[in-house]
Amino acid sequence: MIKIVLFGPPGAGKGTQADILKDKYNLIHLSTGDIFRYNMKNNTPLGKEAKAYIEKGQLVPDKVTVEMLKDEVNRQKEANGFIFDGFPRTQTQAIALDEFLENKNEKIDGMIALEVSDEVLVQRLLERGKTSGRADDANEEVIQKRINVYHEETAVLKNYYEKQGKYYGVDGEGSIEEITERLSNVIDKIKAE
Ligand code: ADP
Repeated sequence: MIKIVLFGPPGAGKGTQADILKDKYNLIHLSTGDIFRYNMKNNTPLGKEAKAYIEKGQLVPDKVTVEMLKDEVNRQKEANGFIFDGFPRTQTQAIALDEFLENKNEKIDGMIALEVSDEVLVQRLLERGKTSGRADDANEEVIQKRINVYHEETAVLKNYYEKQGKYYGVDGEGSIEEITERLSNVIDKIKAE
């Protein structure tokens, strides 16, 4: 069972690529952002809690996010593998994920990072905001906040996975097909190990 963390700043294209790769490799795509949005839409207690953070461009607290993620993984009894998208986003989450998987005699096989410049990110997110209906994409201040949070809290995870020898950087600028190809090359390499 292969488990991959798809990594990168907001707007890097994680969701788009994970959607393609999950079919190509028969994996479960777990996006914490999607799960939060589903809960917000359905006004669940989790959704109500997450909304206040998400609309300001802040991270939802680790405890809430980690519990949610564990529940989602545990629900998938027949999985062939996972792509984690938007998780882990802090060092605390990365440690919690490692511990959780270790208890199951499992591990993360690799973190693949989509590398995209900040200028391109802001443009992509503003463009997405015109059609996505996501309040956090429509406002440039909130977008900038999310990118700042990424640099302050999430970017350190590169180091975390590098130390484990599991970090793979991929150029995230180009056509969707080109980027899928680059990601696939890395996944094939990880699978062959
Ligand atoms: P993007 O990568 O475009 O910012 P996501 O859909 O991954 O969008 O996440 C949207 C929002 O959901 C984030 O800005 C954050 O508030 C919240 N969120 C998603 N994943 C996490 C996480 N792992 N930890 C804390 N908050 C999260």
